[in-house]
Amino acid sequence: MAQDGSVFATHNADFVVESGADHRKKAISNPYIHRLQRRHFLLFDVLPFFGMAAAIAFLWVHPFGVVELLLLFGMWLLTGIGVTVGYHRLFTHRTFRAKPWVAAALAILGSMAGQGGMVSWVALHRRHHECSDREGDPHSPNLSGGGFTGRLRGLMHSHFLWMRRHEYPNIVHYAPDLLKNKPLIRVARLYYYWVVLGLVLPGVIGGLVFMSWQGAVSGLLWGGLARIFILEHIVWAINSFLHMFGTKAYESRENSRNGGVFALLTLGESWHNNHHAFPDSPSFGLDWYRLDPGYWVIRMLAVAGLATDLKLPTKDRRVAKRLDRRAASANAAA
Ligand SMILES: [Zn+2]
Ligand SMILES: [Zn+2]
Repeated sequence: MAQDGSVFATHNADFVVESGADHRKKAISNPYIHRLQRRHFLLFDVLPFFGMAAAIAFLWVHPFGVVELLLLFGMWLLTGIGVTVGYHRLFTHRTFRAKPWVAAALAILGSMAGQGGMVSWVALHRRHHECSDREGDPHSPNLSGGGFTGRLRGLMHSHFLWMRRHEYPNIVHYAPDLLKNKPLIRVARLYYYWVVLGLVLPGVIGGLVFMSWQGAVSGLLWGGLARIFILEHIVWAINSFLHMFGTKAYESRENSRNGGVFALLTLGESWHNNHHAFPDSPSFGLDWYRLDPGYWVIRMLAVAGLATDLKLPTKDRRVAKRLDRRAASANAAA
């Protein structure tokens, strides 16, 4: 899945519309955008590393207890759901429909993850699906040459280095549906405020529970910065490792893979080959026994009447793309 190291889209919306008037470009590159990308990279990709280190160092002042564990886990789960259910399965791929307030809540939770504004993220990820592992893919690990060093360079690039500076996908081309949704755009354009809220909230809770500044700092570090650090590496690993290592169940033209053992940790995102084969499916696991917490959340929303139109692939579509079936029929024909 895509990870946005770029700026929030509406900062550039005017520029993009202007530059795309007649010969609309699919992606643009200019010093202003690259400056904003570098700033986002430093703030949300480099700073959390030091936040994680600070959280560990702060253990000498304040121990890691049940409160820190709950803040870390709770904020990780909520913001992770914001990314996989909101940013990815709802806004990018429209795999289901949600009540407007549910969509707004998911946009807020996704923003708190600090992985870029919603519109930019969606545009980048739609471009990833369009160009997967070919020229134009913002974060392919497979375009940096062969051999050990080429593969290592590819992994580093796709994991996080690409975010320092990259082509910015034209949001008018890639996300016109979202740009028309004014209420949602109003929520999404407050991206930086939501990120700050995601840091302040665990800090305030920690401070109130312990009634001390140490409790507040500990809450901010574990529920805020360390949580961002852990979640972002999990998300990035989908871009990097799961386009290089793992199993392939379905035919797809790029090199996407499944990593079943990481299903719970990634909230179902690690069924990445399944997802590339059926990007319009709200379920990435596709079978009930393939753990997919993101889909469980969508199912719960559907049961509560908050999500509708879940577009699961038919059995025939799945069978037609299954690689083991194809191999079996090829063997039978031989
Ligand atoms: Zn996707
Ligand atoms: Zn992918």
